[in-house]
Amino acid sequence: MSLMPHTLNCLDKMKGLWFMLVLVAVAKSERIFTGDQVIRVDVQSEEQIKLLQFLESEEKWNLDFWLHPVSTKLPVDVRVPRTHLSAVKEYLHAHRIPFTVMIDNVQELLDQEKAEMEENHISERSTRSFNFGAYHPLDTIYSWMETLVAQHPNLVTKLDMGRSYENRPLYVLKFSTGGTKRPAIWIDLGIHSREWVSQATGVWTANKIATDYGTDASLTSLLNTMDIYMLIVANPDGYVFTHTSDRMWRKTRSKNSGSACVGVDPNRNWDAGFGGPGASSLPCSDSYHGPSAHSEIEVKNIVNLIQSHGNFKSFISVHAYSQLLMYPYGYTCRSAPDQAELDSVARAAVQKLTSLYGTAYQVGNICNIIYQASGGSIDWSYDVGIKYSFAFELRDTGRYGFILPADQIIPTASETWLALKHIMEYVRDHPY
Ligand SMILES: [Zn+2]
Repeated sequence: MSLMPHTLNCLDKMKGLWFMLVLVAVAKSERIFTGDQVIRVDVQSEEQIKLLQFLESEEKWNLDFWLHPVSTKLPVDVRVPRTHLSAVKEYLHAHRIPFTVMIDNVQELLDQEKAEMEENHISERSTRSFNFGAYHPLDTIYSWMETLVAQHPNLVTKLDMGRSYENRPLYVLKFSTGGTKRPAIWIDLGIHSREWVSQATGVWTANKIATDYGTDASLTSLLNTMDIYMLIVANPDGYVFTHTSDRMWRKTRSKNSGSACVGVDPNRNWDAGFGGPGASSLPCSDSYHGPSAHSEIEVKNIVNLIQSHGNFKSFISVHAYSQLLMYPYGYTCRSAPDQAELDSVARAAVQKLTSLYGTAYQVGNICNIIYQASGGSIDWSYDVGIKYSFAFELRDTGRYGFILPADQIIPTASETWLALKHIMEYVRDHPY
C-alpha cells in the first residue's frame, strides 16, 4: 500500500528532473557566438569585391555578411565564426585585402545585451513602468501596445492585420482622429528581425506620436487630416527567434520545401523586380527571395492592407544599420520618375536628423547608395503608386552593427523622429 505514494513521488521527481533537463536543453539550444569576430573590409576595387564574393559563396565557412560585398561605396562587414577565423584571415592576407576587426568577440556583446535586458526586466516589474531605452521581447511590446491604446483611446487603435507563419498576430497601431480612409502614412519596422534598434525605435515613436498629439501644433494638424499606421514588429516569428534561439536571425521562419534551411528574406519577397539581381534563389541564403512574390504571409498581409485601404500617400520601411535614407529603386539602377523630388525631401529630412546629435547620414536611391537589390518593399509601394516611399537604415555605421547598445535607442529614435516628421509634414503639404 505504501508503495503507491512512493512510486508517485518517484515519478514526480523523475518528471521534475526531466523538466529540468528539457529546460537545460532549451537554454543550450540558444546559438552562441563565442570568439566570433566581425571583420570589416574597406573595399578598394572591383577585384576585391569579386574575391569577397567568392568567400561569400563558400558555404563551408558559414560566413554571415552584415554588409555584402557588392559596391566600393560601402564597407563590407562579415561575422566570421571562431572556427574559420584563421582561414578567412589567411585568405584576406593572401589576396592583400586589408581588414580591421570591428567586434572582437560577438558573444561578449550579446552577453552584455542579455544582462542589461534582464536587469531592465526586473526594474520594470518593480516600478511597473516601461523603459523606452531598453530592448524588449515580443510579448512585452504587445502588452505595451495595450497600454498605449488604453492611454489614448481617442487616437490610437490596435488593428489585428492577420497572422504570421507561426500564427502570431501582426498588430498595426493606427493613429487617427476620425474619418474613413483618410490619406495615410505607413511605417513598418523590424521586417529584418535582428535589426533590434528598428523595433525599439518604433515603440518610442508610437509613444511620441500619441503624447505629442494635442501639444505639437504641426503633428496635431497632420493628424487632423491624415492617419498614421505603424507595424512595429513586421516579422514577429523572426523577432521571437532572435530572443530565444539565434540573435543573428534575419529572415522569416517559414519552411522551404526541399530544403532544411528555414526562412525567406522578407525584403526580397515583394512583387518588384522579384527574383532579380541582389536576391538569392538559394533557401539557405540570408537574402533568399522565396518561392514566389508575396509568398511570405507577413508580406502578403501588408500588401492586402495597403491595397484594400487604397489611400496611402507615404510608405516608410525602417531597417538598421548604416545610417542611410533611401528611396526607389533598388531592383533597377535607373532613376525613379520622382527622383529629384524624393532626393530633396530625403536631404531635408536628414538635415533635421543630423541637427540633433550630428549623426551623419547618406541619401540616395537604393541601387546607387547600396547596391542593386530586387523584391524590396519600397520599390513595390512606389510602383503601386505611393510616391513618398522611403527606407531608413538607422544607427550605427558598424561599431556595434546589429548589436547596438540599448543606451542608443532613445537618441536614435529621437533623431529619426525629426526626419520622419519632416517627411510626414511634406506629404501633408503636397497632396497628390
Ligand atoms: Zn534590414
